[in-house]
Amino acid sequence: MMYAISQITTLIGAHRYGTAETNIGFVLTDSRSLSFPEETLFFAIKTQRSDGHKYIPDLYNRGVRNFVVNRDYDIPTDLPKSNFLVVTDTVEALQRLAERHREEYDIPVIGITGSNGKTTVKEWLYQLLFKDKRITRSPRSYNSQIGVPQSVWMINNQTELGIFEAGISQVGEMQALQEIIQPTIAVLTNIGQAHQENFRSIREKCEEKLHLMKDAQVVVYNADDATVSHCMRKSNFKGFRLGWSMENPDAPLYINNVETDDENHETRISYIYNGFAGDYCIKNINEGGIENSITCAAVCLYLGMSQKTLAERMPQLEAIAMRLEVKQGQRGCILINDSYNNDVKSLDIALDFMSRRPDSKGRSRTLILSDIYQTGLSDEELSAELLSLIKSRGVNKFIGIGKVLKDSFAPVLCGASNDILRAFFNTTDEFLKSETFGNLHDEVILIKGARIFEFDRITDRLELKVHETVLEVNLNAVVENYNRYRSFMHPDTKLVCMVKADAYGAGAVEVAKTLQDHRVDYLAVAVADEGVTLRNAGITCNIMIMNPEMSAFKTMFDYNLEPEVYSFRMLDALVHAAQREGITNWPVHIKFDTGMCRLGFHPEKDIDELIDRLQHQKAVIPRSVFSHFVGSDSDDFDAFSAEQFALYDAGSRKLQAAFPHKILRHICNSAGIEHFPERQMDMCRLGLGLYGVNPRDNSVLSTVSTLKTTILQMRNVPAGHSVGYSRRTILDRDSLIAAIPIGYADGLNRQLGNRHCYCLVNGKKADYVGNICMDVAMIDVTDIDCREGDSVEIFGQNLPVTVLSDVIGTIPYEILTGVSNRVKRVYFEE
Ligand SMILES: *Cc1c(COP(=O)(O)O)cnc(C)c1O
Repeated sequence: MMYAISQITTLIGAHRYGTAETNIGFVLTDSRSLSFPEETLFFAIKTQRSDGHKYIPDLYNRGVRNFVVNRDYDIPTDLPKSNFLVVTDTVEALQRLAERHREEYDIPVIGITGSNGKTTVKEWLYQLLFKDKRITRSPRSYNSQIGVPQSVWMINNQTELGIFEAGISQVGEMQALQEIIQPTIAVLTNIGQAHQENFRSIREKCEEKLHLMKDAQVVVYNADDATVSHCMRKSNFKGFRLGWSMENPDAPLYINNVETDDENHETRISYIYNGFAGDYCIKNINEGGIENSITCAAVCLYLGMSQKTLAERMPQLEAIAMRLEVKQGQRGCILINDSYNNDVKSLDIALDFMSRRPDSKGRSRTLILSDIYQTGLSDEELSAELLSLIKSRGVNKFIGIGKVLKDSFAPVLCGASNDILRAFFNTTDEFLKSETFGNLHDEVILIKGARIFEFDRITDRLELKVHETVLEVNLNAVVENYNRYRSFMHPDTKLVCMVKADAYGAGAVEVAKTLQDHRVDYLAVAVADEGVTLRNAGITCNIMIMNPEMSAFKTMFDYNLEPEVYSFRMLDALVHAAQREGITNWPVHIKFDTGMCRLGFHPEKDIDELIDRLQHQKAVIPRSVFSHFVGSDSDDFDAFSAEQFALYDAGSRKLQAAFPHKILRHICNSAGIEHFPERQMDMCRLGLGLYGVNPRDNSVLSTVSTLKTTILQMRNVPAGHSVGYSRRTILDRDSLIAAIPIGYADGLNRQLGNRHCYCLVNGKKADYVGNICMDVAMIDVTDIDCREGDSVEIFGQNLPVTVLSDVIGTIPYEILTGVSNRVKRVYFEE
């Protein structure tokens, strides 16, 4: 659904500066999630940690024209054609807009609150109901004052049922969420300790949560919980009180038997609802699963699902996944990185994961933990819980970072047990400088910390690889090359920078950071994991995935990555995956094959079906449509390029005509940008040129990557002797031979050996002699003034990479991307 900006101005009672008329389809609060600038309304929100107003100029440069801002914000005068809607409180304005939007739809809506299990119940209800109804639900756990309005905003004309989470942490918040969600079915999962710190008592928190049921037709809750049933008795709620109970046979939903079969990990639950006895099974369910399943059953039965259908669908419920990363560390360590919330519950899950992880080497288990915030527990209570967790999960070494742990937990741990090694530090820095850090070896290490402790620095250090060969990457050169291509481009044309294959070997993270600083419009990587690496490193700009794997859709949703779509099979799988996640309008990039015969839709034969399929679903939406030249680097293929362009042009126009929103069109790669300026269209894709090689003539632009190593050892070898494996080089004179620590495992091609190519030692050419080994190569330095430890350039600043690629008959791309991972990247800016 689109709203005119003038309509929104009225709905939220704003004062508008600007007169440009636009339609708004998307609301945005996190500038990192931008995908449809033209139709986006940005709400600048101030939080304790950040201020959305800061991002307005950047968003403007990325094409956003509509902003909701606070009254005290000085509206910039240099942003023409924009609209600023001024309000007293941008969060309230966002909430008001969502509320008005919700009022447009007369559909059943389930609102879920409670201390634990909200996300599980939401996802399970979705799994149970999606076959019967088209459902819009909160993505992941968007349940905050800002998340809920954005979730509700996703309701559209297709929606038949809404399912939304509502999370609160203080008094007064639920009223706001109730007004936005306006649930017809209110669900209270349970009441526990989480987010307790802002409430005087559990009862107060319970009462606050029950505000959600105001105006609902029914409320589902656990009637066996004393606090909840007390609050319900006191409440004047007029609707149906669907309390479930294992104790009271008169309860609307009476659970008369729960039987667990440990061997088969199966639980059978028998119940009486409306006088009818039924039962169902759930499988592989962890703690809380039984209660959550009963809550879901209550909702389904209330919605009229038959007992038979319920019994069929319950066993198929899937557990909701958590995210834990396992990495190889240095000195025999295994690192488990847990980026999930830092709370006691998720610590337990992570510890459980570590203790269950089979380790064939029998390594000991270490936990590195930071202070935990917002538990609502006193320091003593928290310490007691931590102690029991650490003991029960078999932690051998505990490293605590933060003042609370050091002051409160250290004494408890000391008093309790002698067989757990321990160390405490005030800060992450203190730990990194300590002997404790230096002595970590042969351990499985769980690393779990609140964000402000920046535990990724610990992970980085422990992962660091050491090798005397380095690839030096000049980040200024990247910028110079970027600007060079920019200068040939129309100022409004957007640019995608290709950072696939680890930025052509240069290292995607640092290159991406640099490009982000220079406001690149898009980054492109090959596979989802490369995108995840960038996100984890703090890259927030748009990222497209050129060769998405079918198994990685969930990752793409979680990390805000935009896949290329090249086939119907893939489109179907993607749509299906997005629907399962309750996602709508996920931006995708449609690829046409116009002559490469690689991947892509045919712009003539497939176009009608493609349009039809895209129009009959809501899950994904085309953000751009593109194709790729097979020979823009050479004039020889100009006629073919023209054919490719004509095909692409017709197909992409047809696609655009079928949709009301702007779809970006792009076809030029590095060579195309220069060679076909008239075909730059909405966007271009810059690859090799960015890394310093002009693909048109292989000339050198600004050199980005220099592969360097050092001389390890030198020896005099008499004439007639051979060097290296299989005696392939026989010396024809007395020679001085140097060994350098780089081999084919580092990406130094074996075909360069036996004097086929050379490297530079102190500016002079030194031939490779003998076969290149796996980790070492030998070079002839007879005529060169040099010594052990001197630097050697393999390619780069003084020896163009194209010299190497020409020798072995390949293209510079292959040499650049062939530098293996174990070669450390060193970045510098001049
Ligand atoms: C890699 C790639 C590019 C960049 O090509 P260069 O020749 O390095 O500029 C552009 N488009 C697509 C689809 C690519 O895969």
